[in-house]
Amino acid sequence: MGSLTPVPAATTEPAFAGWFATDDSGDTHLIGGKCTACATYVFPPRETNCPNPACDSDTLALVPLSRRGTVWSYTENRYAPPPPYPSPDPFEPFAVAAVALEEEGLIVLGKVVEGTLAADLTVGMEMELTTMALYTDDAGVVRTTHAWRIAK
Ligand SMILES: [Zn+2]
Repeated sequence: MGSLTPVPAATTEPAFAGWFATDDSGDTHLIGGKCTACATYVFPPRETNCPNPACDSDTLALVPLSRRGTVWSYTENRYAPPPPYPSPDPFEPFAVAAVALEEEGLIVLGKVVEGTLAADLTVGMEMELTTMALYTDDAGVVRTTHAWRIAK
């Protein structure tokens, strides 16, 4: 009887630590910074340096952002990015959407999930947050990023 070799679990880690988190119900939220003085939001998250030029606060709280927003603008990437940016091989065109979060007054750029291209999008369309694999690193870890999909 040989010993059993455990199959390593597929490991996934965010490509950018701290940009999103999953709550108890399994929903993924982007994490933003919110000024404790003037309530201005910022993404990607940071804990200092309020982005409001009229505010001199240096304290931002890390808070979950709205999971839904509307398309403010979008485009489609038809060319593989040059190294060192990771890109699947063979390259597949993908859409990128700038999604407005109404409550926060933010526009968050993100890739759009596979299978949805620019022709499928319109300005004002409701989108919801998800995550997708971005690339696999040299250690075999699948690095994930936030992404937008058409809201159901
Ligand atoms: Zn502020």
